[in-house]
Amino acid sequence: SADAALHQAKAKGHGSLRFFSHEMGRRARDRLALEADLRGARARGELALHYQPQVDLRSGALVGLEALIRWHHPARGNVPPNDFIALAEECGLIVELGDWVLQTACRQIRYWSDAGLAPRHTAVNISAVQLSRGGLPEAVKRAIGATGIRPDQLELEITESFVMLERELSFQSLAELRAFGVRLSIDDFGTGYSSLSYLQQLKVHKLKIDMSFVRDMLKNAGNAAIVKAVIALGHSMGLEVIAEGVEDVEQARFLRGLDCDAVQGYMISKPLPAPEAGAFLAGFGGAGFSV
Ligand code: C2E
Ligand code: MG
Ligand code: MG
Ligand code: MG
Repeated sequence: SADAALHQAKAKGHGSLRFFSHEMGRRARDRLALEADLRGARARGELALHYQPQVDLRSGALVGLEALIRWHHPARGNVPPNDFIALAEECGLIVELGDWVLQTACRQIRYWSDAGLAPRHTAVNISAVQLSRGGLPEAVKRAIGATGIRPDQLELEITESFVMLERELSFQSLAELRAFGVRLSIDDFGTGYSSLSYLQQLKVHKLKIDMSFVRDMLKNAGNAAIVKAVIALGHSMGLEVIAEGVEDVEQARFLRGLDCDAVQGYMISKPLPAPEAGAFLAGFGGAGFSV
């Protein structure tokens, strides 16, 4: 951490403190530069959504897609969302970025619907900051209204951290969106500040088991127990449960044995650019995926 680094630098004397300050300055400048670049990224056409399939474990049908943002920086190449979403949240850009994600996803759903290819639901990730700023229900309704898709074709993935910011407003917004017909799902379930009473009040449709539990559930009994418990909890509340980050068939079989509803992960496909996702949807028609 920065504190630990500072402590170490102080302990080593002035030379390393100077190095440390230099390093801090470089990082701060780097961050500012990235922020400035991100501000123009949308207008320069550097952003795209990729789509990752979700498959039902019982029928083998492709039941959903998750839209994931991609930023192709002209000099840095692909910048992963984990390297710029937090930055966009801190500088407020996430609201504009989030609007773009909603509009783009809804247009794509419309396009696939017209082609007879749209899956039941397409999910977009919503930041806790988008929710706490207010205006999310309006933004979602605008995107749905402009494209004429059905509200239940859109699923919003929220993380448990939303309860940390402007809880009342966030709760109200989610209730309004749910009443409008949009689907709600809790992302990375089990990693955040989960409170079962929030879960009950919110009436989400779906839980996504975080991939950190899925990754080594076959070797780690503790993680297997968590996965099992989340599936049982979700089902007892009438929710759909999907596992994220499923990379091989052994994991999928194990999950099917636990009555998990669906899987998403590299075993099925990586997130794909829209045209390839469309081809995937077309090729999948009827074929199914069996584990
Ligand atoms: P997430 O919503 O939990 O998305 C799942 C992440 O896991 C994605 O990373 C996906 O590419 C990756 N993944 C999927 N299957 C596998 C697998 O089998 N193995 C492994 N190792 N990874 C897998 P990605 O696209 O880099 O996104 C990272 C995070 O960034 C997302 O986590 C989400 O929190 C955030 N994010 C992405 N797009 C958006 C967006 O449009 N808006 C907001 N607010 N956040 C976004
Ligand atoms: Mg997600
Ligand atoms: Mg997740
Ligand atoms: Mg995540």
